[in-house]
Amino acid sequence: MGAARVVGCSWGLLCLLGWGTAAAGTGGPVLVKAGQLLDVRTGILHAKQALLIENERIKEVGPEAQILAHAPSGAQLIDLGGYTVLPGFIDAHTHLTYRVDVASYAWLGVSAPREALLGARHAKATLMAGFTTVRNLGARGYADVALRDAIRDGDVIGPRMQVSGPAIGSTGGHMDSNLLPYAFRYSEEGIADGREGVIRKVREVVKYGSEVVKVAVTGGFLSVGTNPNGGQYSDEELQALVAESKRLGKPVAAHAHGTVGIKQAVRAGVDSIEHGTELDDECIQLMKSRGTYLVPTVFLWSHFPENARPPEVPQEQAEKAREMAPSAKRNLAKAVKAGVKIAFGTDSSVYPHGMNGHEFGALVELGMSPLGSIQAATLHAADLLRWSDRVGELKPGLYADLVAVPSNPLLNVRILENIPFVMKGGEVVKDQRPSATCAPHATSSFAVPQEDGTLRTHGPTGVSLLPIVRRLWATFRGAVDAGAAARVWLDDTSDVDGAIGIYGRPCVGQPARRPACAHS
Ligand SMILES: [Zn+2]
Repeated sequence: MGAARVVGCSWGLLCLLGWGTAAAGTGGPVLVKAGQLLDVRTGILHAKQALLIENERIKEVGPEAQILAHAPSGAQLIDLGGYTVLPGFIDAHTHLTYRVDVASYAWLGVSAPREALLGARHAKATLMAGFTTVRNLGARGYADVALRDAIRDGDVIGPRMQVSGPAIGSTGGHMDSNLLPYAFRYSEEGIADGREGVIRKVREVVKYGSEVVKVAVTGGFLSVGTNPNGGQYSDEELQALVAESKRLGKPVAAHAHGTVGIKQAVRAGVDSIEHGTELDDECIQLMKSRGTYLVPTVFLWSHFPENARPPEVPQEQAEKAREMAPSAKRNLAKAVKAGVKIAFGTDSSVYPHGMNGHEFGALVELGMSPLGSIQAATLHAADLLRWSDRVGELKPGLYADLVAVPSNPLLNVRILENIPFVMKGGEVVKDQRPSATCAPHATSSFAVPQEDGTLRTHGPTGVSLLPIVRRLWATFRGAVDAGAAARVWLDDTSDVDGAIGIYGRPCVGQPARRPACAHS
């Protein structure tokens, strides 16, 4: 162990076990100490655990003493003592390249490249909310493929993405743009009709990079002139679409609100029903017998009807949603109670990106246990994505994607609405844990995460430790400058533009506030 041992690791900042250690994210060994670690499969919280990470993946998980005994001496240590560590979350239904005004005339003037760049902003907000993987269902111009690849190549930061490209739908249906009159003769690129048409469209979206096929089998509340309860495709068209997707090895996600469309899609063999708003007992039985996933996107039924207003959302769409909300919640609660397989998904874009964690509380309100809601966002979503070999658990061989929260989410799942620590692929992308380095007499105020997930602000207090803090900080900076670095971003998450990290290069986390303090 070299001279670069920096600060007491119990202080919550990243610490270095030795001189010249590799930075997280470069594949060097990383050792994470977890005060508690949630086994999402069993629901057991194991105390004093550790994870050894190498080359983005988890190499070992187990009791801290056991892992520490043989961890490489040069490993970077991240001390999450006092925190509960969980796998990074998966949102199986996002629209990172969209905003809520996607159905407005103004949106017709937004180009696909612009959508991809907007997606970069939303990808960051989503990752900062603890969602290290998303399935993106629907994007124009393959903006989602571009975003996925840019994240993979390290050009922008964001979650791992599984993407659909343009969503497939019938002429005049939910996936078409019905805002323009005939003179423009405009249809969205995912529009296909007839058996031959849908088969060709599936081949086309796969050709351009789609990993999952998204299809609309009913109307929706964010499209003009469509009926959420009405079907959009014939059985023959839908069966051909699903058969071709399966032949190409791609799962199918079906947007479906009404019962006719849900039954049609489940019988055709889709992998998931997205929304499922009006499902009845027969739908529930069909889905259970076929093992079809439901992605209930339930938080939107609380947020959207209350907040959707013209001009961002046309009056017709807002009213459709307000009418559907009460029965949606009742029906989805029945599906949860009946034991339909649930995967976590939010439809983010219908409300601001980065609020994905509010879905946990909404699922619990439907009658799901806190553990069940966490399983939906880890094990089950990973299964739906067919990515159980890479994400969804903290076990050897999977990506080191994890989050840490200051209290037990099984007691209060709403703590997951505010995630202070996020790691993706062994790299710390967010660290806003309270730190003793801004100890008493800090001139600025500081915030302490509360049980309910909010931050409580505390003002300045007594004794000055500033000189000591400055010295320790300088030592820490020295270690960083020597290249023994970990990527720690000490800034706020509210405004991502122009933030500078401690390396003098742009933050991957988010800006503005100094680290919050834990002492009281
Ligand atoms: Zn959607």
